Amino acid sequence: MTNSVLHVADVHKSFGGLRALSDVDLNVEEGTTHAIIGPNGAGKSTLLNVCVGRIKPDSGHVVFNGEVLDNHTPDEINQLGVSRVFQTPEIFPDLTLLDNVMIPAFASRDGSFKLRPFAKLRHEAAVRDEAEKTLADVGLGVMAEREAASLSRGDKRRLELAMCLIQHPKLLLLDEPTAGMSRHDTNRTVDLLKTIKERGMTKVIIEHDMHVVFSLADRISVLAQGRIIASGTPDEIKGNPKVQEAYLGG
Ligand code: ADP
Ligand code: MG
Repeated sequence: MTNSVLHVADVHKSFGGLRALSDVDLNVEEGTTHAIIGPNGAGKSTLLNVCVGRIKPDSGHVVFNGEVLDNHTPDEINQLGVSRVFQTPEIFPDLTLLDNVMIPAFASRDGSFKLRPFAKLRHEAAVRDEAEKTLADVGLGVMAEREAASLSRGDKRRLELAMCLIQHPKLLLLDEPTAGMSRHDTNRTVDLLKTIKERGMTKVIIEHDMHVVFSLADRISVLAQGRIIASGTPDEIKGNPKVQEAYLGG
């Protein structure tokens, strides 16, 4: 029996009269890549936001490495080892790529980001080296001194991924990491995510591109109208008539 890194137990969340998540259960095993797929508006991003503490569920629990996260802030959850790439990249547009990647490296050490220690430490060679290496890993090495605002949408997503990776998270959550990318960039991102997987990092990936899903996922859960309607290996999901129905019948 492998270890469950993330356990979502019986989570419900409504926005006014709209049930965004109903009765959602999810188990993510250590070292695996778990994909969440489903039509637009199915509740995928809401589920991810519940996992990182940005949205509190109406009922149910999220458990990370055995710790119940009911009362944790997003920062505390990040400190426990959970990093995420949101659907809309959250970067510091006025700073260079290198500074963008160095900030979360410091944040992951002392739990909060303070300007003075950052100003002092930004010359610390080790962190700088690691930030440069991480940028190179995501294919942005040559742009390290550019302003983040100047990046294309796809490159901003890669930058955000680098900002996650430098934290060495135990669990990485990705919300449509290839959205807005060309096929070429998508393939590069898939290769990068495969490399990360070889290093043993546990991942949850929300993705609409089935080529990406089937290249990366060990398990797939299908969300439709706020409910998990199927969960299984890629082969099991491919042949599941309920999945076809949710996609075709909406
Ligand atoms: P997905 O990521 O699968 O496309 P979302 O989780 O973004 O779906 O949204 C699920 C449903 O919840 C949608 O109907 C969406 O409009 C609604 N929703 C999401 N966030 C909010 C919010 N903050 N307030 C009100 N409704 C929301
Ligand atoms: Mg979404």
